[in-house]
Amino acid sequence: MDLLEHQAMRLFAAHQVPVPAGEVADTPARAGAIAARLGGATVVKAQVKVGGRGKAGGVRVAATPAEASARAGEIIGMEIKGHRVREVLVAEASNIATEYYLAFLVDRSAREITGMFSSSGGMDIEQAPASSIVRIPVDPLDLTALPPAIVPVAERLWAVFVREDATLVEVNPLIVDAAGRVLAIDGKVTLDDNAAFRRSFAGLSGRPDDPLEARAVAKGLNYVKLDGTVGIIGNGAGLVMSTLDVVAGAGARPANFLDIGGGAGAQVMADALSVVLDDPAVRSVLVNVFGGITACDAVANGVIQALDQLGAAVTRPIVVRLDGHNANAGRAILAGAGHPMVTLADTMDDAAARAAHLGR
Ligand code: GDP
Ligand code: MN
Repeated sequence: MDLLEHQAMRLFAAHQVPVPAGEVADTPARAGAIAARLGGATVVKAQVKVGGRGKAGGVRVAATPAEASARAGEIIGMEIKGHRVREVLVAEASNIATEYYLAFLVDRSAREITGMFSSSGGMDIEQAPASSIVRIPVDPLDLTALPPAIVPVAERLWAVFVREDATLVEVNPLIVDAAGRVLAIDGKVTLDDNAAFRRSFAGLSGRPDDPLEARAVAKGLNYVKLDGTVGIIGNGAGLVMSTLDVVAGAGARPANFLDIGGGAGAQVMADALSVVLDDPAVRSVLVNVFGGITACDAVANGVIQALDQLGAAVTRPIVVRLDGHNANAGRAILAGAGHPMVTLADTMDDAAARAAHLGR
């Protein structure tokens, strides 16, 4: 789970990482009221789960509550890298003397946890030469390579990483302000969902970015919205990933990733189809199932059940490729139903070509 900045800030504060005071607002008036409560200059920040907000105009300093309200009015509703801004964080503005970059992350290729530090933190960190970024082996924990002033805060950020089962804790910039105080004024945190059961920190249940994502999560589906036009449903993350590739290879762009998982019954397929068809960007749907624990006849029954439930809402063509366990039975069920919007395909490539053609 990726956290929004304001959630990361609250998590940091819970671990005694110094952060500017601030609150979230979804209207300009509320932003103004928060700025009035905080007193002094504030910074109004788009709450979206992408970096580069500053460059996109989504981070603005305001001298007065009226100005904070005006800036919030400009930022709320903005789109930053495809993410619509619904909320802003209104925080005390900092008087920045030095900007550092500090991150702890799971480095999968090196199979270790790495710390990354740069003394040229801020908006251009992506352009900083690799040689200016120090990689710190964090096991055993030895942060003495860092400037002494930030070591205590770095240790607390390391505690966030370990105790919250994070896979990423990135602070850019970690600042020293004009008064010599060290503050995390931006935070990007990814928590390992496998450890959600033992996570005690409350207040992380922000609303998912996408209403369909929220619905899919509520149904227990593994769904990620993408920006293309071909809806994708498959069983198993690996198969769904390769389906995305094959659709892209056929010249179309996937509208989503949706893994119904192993052992999925008919209702799961019905839920999956209903979520994907509710995305207005979807022009065709590709159902790609390799039957194992999930038998293809159950999947076929799920497709039929979904078509019954959705009725007139099925306005886009659905291409189905079934293979593996009970594939013939599954195909027979779909062929027998003869639904006008459903096409059967024999192979994954054929299915992708048809779905891509229909979805362009
Ligand atoms: P990002 O662009 O999404 O990484 O958003 P940040 O929160 O990092 O803000 C972008 C940049 O705005 C930072 O690198 C700072 O240079 C600047 N900035 C952010 N907050 C403040 C603030 O309180 N005061 C000042 N003067 N600059 C700020
Ligand atoms: Mn930043």
